[in-house]
Amino acid sequence: MRLAPDDPLISGYRRFRQDVWPARAESYARLAKRGQKPSTAVVACSDARLDPQAIFDAEPGELFVIRTVAGLEFAVRILRVRTLVLLGHADCDGIHAMLRGPLRHAPDFLMPWMDIAEPVMWPMPEAEPGECFEAKVEDAVIGLSLANLRGFPWIASAEKSGALRLRAFKLHLGQGVLSECDTGREA
Ligand SMILES: [Zn+2]
Repeated sequence: MRLAPDDPLISGYRRFRQDVWPARAESYARLAKRGQKPSTAVVACSDARLDPQAIFDAEPGELFVIRTVAGLEFAVRILRVRTLVLLGHADCDGIHAMLRGPLRHAPDFLMPWMDIAEPVMWPMPEAEPGECFEAKVEDAVIGLSLANLRGFPWIASAEKSGALRLRAFKLHLGQGVLSECDTGREA
């Protein structure tokens, strides 16, 4: 098969083979043989700018990244990860859409999905002077998402027994700064 040199996927793969693979060949071989045993699962927004591997500078096999509900159950009940990270971010397109009007061109799944976040608007979060209203809503949605995770009985019981720790972070994309949500300070 001939690979097109101007294809960004293929050129990315070639950089991986040339620059990344040699140093990691051994660890990939080990992962292929022994299977995955990640200790941490990350629930992340699907936003293309949000890259959990890069933010946590994680090696392959360290993070089980979840962008589907089925993956959540697999990570907690089958892989039995010890930490479940909720990774939100500023400038989220989903939050933009929730605040600025319905997603008319994506009504089948996206609108009902964003409806899950709507309770944060009742009552409307109030921003202090100098505070960004949208940031308040983002924080409230992260809080609601944590509460929703705890609504799964198998997550609540794992957390109660100490087998699972839940953590929430928010990435400020423009600054590249990650803050832990319960303190609000940079991680
Ligand atoms: Zn987002």
